[in-house]
Amino acid sequence: MVQTRFEAQEAFLNQPIDGLAGLGPKTAEILHRMSIFSYGDLLKTLPRRYENSADLHIIEELEDGHEAAFIAEVAQIRAPRFASARQPLRCLLFDDSGQIEAVFFNQNYLKDRLSSGGPFLFFGRVRRNARRLQLQNPRFQMLTYDANGEIETFFSPIYPLSQGLKQSQMQRFLKNLIQACARRDAFPDYLPIEIERKYQLCSAAFAYEKIHYPRSAEELAIAKRRLIFEELFFMRYALAQMKRKNQSAAASCLCLSEEARAEFKASIRDLPFKLSEAQLRSLSEICKDMERSQAMTRLLQGDVGSGKTVVAALAMRYVALCGGQSALMAPTSILAEQHYHSICSYLGLKEDEIALITGQMKARERGRVEAGLASGQIKYLIGTQALTSERIQFNNLRLAVTDEQQRFGVLQRLKLGSDEAGRAHVLVMSATPIPRSLALILHGDLDLSILDRYPRKRQTIDTYTVGLNDRDTERVAQLGCRQIEAGGAVFYVCPVIEEQEDGDLISLTSFVERVKSLYPQYRVAFLHGGQKEVEKQETMRAFAAGDYQVLVSTSVVEVGIDVERANFMVIMNAERFGIAQMHQLRGRIGRGHLKSICILASDAPEDSRAFERMRSLCRSNDGFKLAERDLELRGQGDFFGTRQHGMPQFRIANLYENGDVLKLVNEAVDLIECGNLRLSEEAETRLDAGLKSYFVIDDPAAAL
Ligand code: ADP
Ligand code: MG
Repeated sequence: MVQTRFEAQEAFLNQPIDGLAGLGPKTAEILHRMSIFSYGDLLKTLPRRYENSADLHIIEELEDGHEAAFIAEVAQIRAPRFASARQPLRCLLFDDSGQIEAVFFNQNYLKDRLSSGGPFLFFGRVRRNARRLQLQNPRFQMLTYDANGEIETFFSPIYPLSQGLKQSQMQRFLKNLIQACARRDAFPDYLPIEIERKYQLCSAAFAYEKIHYPRSAEELAIAKRRLIFEELFFMRYALAQMKRKNQSAAASCLCLSEEARAEFKASIRDLPFKLSEAQLRSLSEICKDMERSQAMTRLLQGDVGSGKTVVAALAMRYVALCGGQSALMAPTSILAEQHYHSICSYLGLKEDEIALITGQMKARERGRVEAGLASGQIKYLIGTQALTSERIQFNNLRLAVTDEQQRFGVLQRLKLGSDEAGRAHVLVMSATPIPRSLALILHGDLDLSILDRYPRKRQTIDTYTVGLNDRDTERVAQLGCRQIEAGGAVFYVCPVIEEQEDGDLISLTSFVERVKSLYPQYRVAFLHGGQKEVEKQETMRAFAAGDYQVLVSTSVVEVGIDVERANFMVIMNAERFGIAQMHQLRGRIGRGHLKSICILASDAPEDSRAFERMRSLCRSNDGFKLAERDLELRGQGDFFGTRQHGMPQFRIANLYENGDVLKLVNEAVDLIECGNLRLSEEAETRLDAGLKSYFVIDDPAAAL
């Protein structure tokens, strides 16, 4: 069979790096540890930064801490008599403006090159050593001149390394590989030419050559733009494909009869409150989805307290009125139980229609639930992961509601019905406010309903920062006692359960005793993830019932515990928490009528990033604003805790900085999806290969 050009490229890039000239088995092993296995992997290992000789300095200008490039002559080369780790090779570098010492550790072999006559181009970090400036282990090379006799300015790539691998080796491997790719025309080229042209992107060959060896800042910018575009493009394209697949999955149309419609309206009317406009809008979007014969995959997004539960409850009610069953899965049993009670009370359900299933259920009770589900009598099932157990067989599951945290992975195990009526509809709830600019990248495979207003006027939670010293801790406790006297309750949140080795953090176990002494007249309970489920539930129940006035816990309280009395929260070592996480934690208070206060206790310096996060919380109660601010502060990195939220790791793109490229990418993907951009067969092949080479995304609906 004849290989196409594209197949030949792929075959070349898939070769194992072991075959690269000058690369021995030991080095290959090191590269493997860095997840570099094939030529393609190596080529995509991008420089962390560049040493830039376009920005040349003179010695007089060098300052402590500078990463500098300069041209200098070499004098006074002194090598140690015996090769020794502690005695460096020393020399003096000079130009017309001044001189600076350079020391080379473990590099005696450089002596000959240095004495061969300069000038050289030096790169290195300048440090102050005993009042004199010095360069340690600078890199250097001969000057090269272009056709006009000017010194050539260029960038040297600096790659990520691993123990046992030298910068010069990495540079050599990549140089060789790039040459080999150029000879064979084998640069990974997945973007359709039509897209390349429309968005004025450089070729893959140019991009890869120049991202490694740019000769000017402009070239580097052009190369980067292409690679960023490509990376974001494949992310968006993958999500769009998933969405298309989801939408083509068949499901049964759920339509209400006249009679059922009247009952549905009555359920809405009989709620203890009037639904907000946003809630009504979301509910109607959900019901419309379920009326169709395609499976719904919708995200219901709303900040803490925006009233998602009642919307989910009504969606489940709708399904029950159509004769179907629905399941709601929560991340913890405390939360599952809470949902169970809320839903019972919202819908006024009878005991035999709804069931709660958790890990520690008694066998007899479980048997009863299993039978009720199989017969179809139980229409509503609320539970933890336990409801994905093999033994749970639904009679007619039509809707699965799940929490964002379970978005990936667990949903797959929930057998959402694959009978002739098609799979169940899926509703994902998310309390993580996401800047709109990112929603498409994070949730591009889902349809979106947003609860953007609070259903009732929520009080703002006054938030302050204090130190961790005894005086502040006592003052905070006095304030806490006054809250309890007024009918409130107090949360303390600690970053860790046990004392850590390096011991800087306030651990729950030691802090509980402290809190008891600070609140002598009150009862103090504690809660953490290491406890048994039963124990945790018992504690929560007792705290909610008012048996305890103070609860010391880890961030396990983050997930939706409702205790209306609670109006005072103290977060210890607040510097250890992210903005989104603190906002979620703080959402545990301010639910009742009492004025609520949140205290962020930390010794973080005022000019630190951690303190900047805390300051954002003091200034705003708005989850969306905080999310924007969070993204701004962090760039992207672990925004929201990357893995948990299914956020992809990018090699080069930065969602915050590359917002403009992201806009173009969204447009490009839409063009392709709508068929408004005609692609050749070759382009389709490249797109498929690109998808595989870029992201392996868990597809929540794949196994449904
Ligand atoms: P979320 O799960 O989005 O954080 P919940 O569903 O727990 O929010 O709702 C927060 C509180 O607001 C609950 O006590 C709920 O009963 C109440 N609530 C929900 N919708 C409304 C509404 N339309 N009017 C008044 N209160 C509401
Ligand atoms: Mg909730």
